[in-house]
Amino acid sequence: MRPAPEHARFRPTVAPRVSPVPAAPDVVVIGAGAAGIASARRLIERGLSVAVLEARDRVGGRAVTTQLRGHAIDLGAHWMHAGPINPLIALARSRGEPLRRAAQHEHLWIGRRPARADEEAAFSRAFDVADRAITGAASRAQDGPAAGALPRHLGPWRERIAGVHALVSGRPLEEVSLHDWPSMEYGDNFFIAGGYGAYLARLALELPIRLGCPVTGLDWSGPGVRVQLADGGQLAARAVIVTVPMPVLQAAFRFDPPLPERTRAAIDGFLSGIYEHVVLHWPSAPFHGRDRLASVVGGRHKPPGMLTRIDGTPFHYFELDTALTRALDAAGAGPDGARRLARAVLAEHFGRAALADLAIPAVTAWRHDPWSRGSWAVVPPGHAAARATLQEPVGERIWFAGEANSRAQWGTAGGAYEEGQRAADRVADRLTDDRAPLRASA
Ligand SMILES: Cc1cc2nc3c(=O)[nH]c(=O)nc-3n(C[C@H](O)[C@H](O)[C@H](O)COP(=O)(O)OP(=O)(O)OC[C@H]3O[C@@H](n4cnc5c(N)ncnc54)[C@H](O)[C@@H]3O)c2cc1C
Repeated sequence: MRPAPEHARFRPTVAPRVSPVPAAPDVVVIGAGAAGIASARRLIERGLSVAVLEARDRVGGRAVTTQLRGHAIDLGAHWMHAGPINPLIALARSRGEPLRRAAQHEHLWIGRRPARADEEAAFSRAFDVADRAITGAASRAQDGPAAGALPRHLGPWRERIAGVHALVSGRPLEEVSLHDWPSMEYGDNFFIAGGYGAYLARLALELPIRLGCPVTGLDWSGPGVRVQLADGGQLAARAVIVTVPMPVLQAAFRFDPPLPERTRAAIDGFLSGIYEHVVLHWPSAPFHGRDRLASVVGGRHKPPGMLTRIDGTPFHYFELDTALTRALDAAGAGPDGARRLARAVLAEHFGRAALADLAIPAVTAWRHDPWSRGSWAVVPPGHAAARATLQEPVGERIWFAGEANSRAQWGTAGGAYEEGQRAADRVADRLTDDRAPLRASA
């Protein structure tokens, strides 16, 4: 058996006090990530009793903040994307949380030198051309790989642009649906002081959550649902909201009776998106200005991206994409392999002497984490209807929620939160309807 990924050993900065779960809840929510927290908060607001069952011994799922050398560092989600439509930003504002807008200016480093202003301008223009071309092509009737819409005439920037999009998509563009493309609005991003994971953990305060409680499956043969627990127990409820990541549902979760073919096909068709952080502590890094994206090009390796001076600290993310993690995994390289790779790339561009004060305190491997098996769900060509399919309930008692459901904010904590609220509203509408079936007997 593969050892637990390194990131799972870091303790979260915020471990909220949670409440005991009721023995006979109206609704069971499986998973206490962004979607599960949103569902639980909304169901309670709507007057229903709820039990959240979480496999890990912490809340937040793929958003977790830890403390490294005195700084709060996110090991999962960090960017609050899509400012105008992300419910976690609106909620943060209403709570007076410390938000800051992400900088627009990026670093471009070519070979062993910073780019000139004309090179930066050319790169930026090429990016705009590519974005317009792909977004335009996405409205074509026929779906296909997003790679097919990337213009040929982007000069030396084409490979870099494809690499950036592959990183933020979670897969090479050959594996990403063109029809799923325009659904993500990356512009107008924010960060939250103290970390995204810590913020989500604060939102879980006092919620009825049982930690360390993996769910193995659901029996929905009766009028309600019986949730099967790994310890052999079960919990009965009138309805369930399943926020378990798609690759986990594909690999290790049983529905009895089996899900309808359409729902099963929607779940099984998603690809596991890959995005990992190699967390650098590098006080003397040549990048200045906090929270800047960096493109480092013109070397032997193709690093897909960096975020420098996280929150104005000496920390930086060196990101790993599908291509790099495939190579590392094929070589059997663990986290130390990722460390060696990051060092080799940085040495090539900045010289070995510049790395004298570089330390790499954390490397994530969400793709090997049994409770996520990836960073987010990716829609391959021909599968673009899956997100909408997952928004439909099964048997009026199983609802799905999570980042995979979100059309407009796919792959994000904001999208997961919105889908958690949406599912909770649907469940509450259903259960407060007089015609709804009575609770399954325990
Ligand atoms: C490295 C990385 C960087 C990212 N960067 C960003 C970013 O900058 N901005 C952004 O918005 N998003 C980012 N994301 C994506 C974001 O983290 C996710 O989209 C979001 O957190 C998903 O929320 P969720 O509730 O759908 O799923 P999760 O957070 O995965 O929550 C599901 C929960 O279910 C639990 N669970 C799983 N199986 C079971 C089971 N059988 N029984 C009980 N519980 C179970 C899990 O432990 C988990 O707590 C990133 C992800 C990663 C990994």
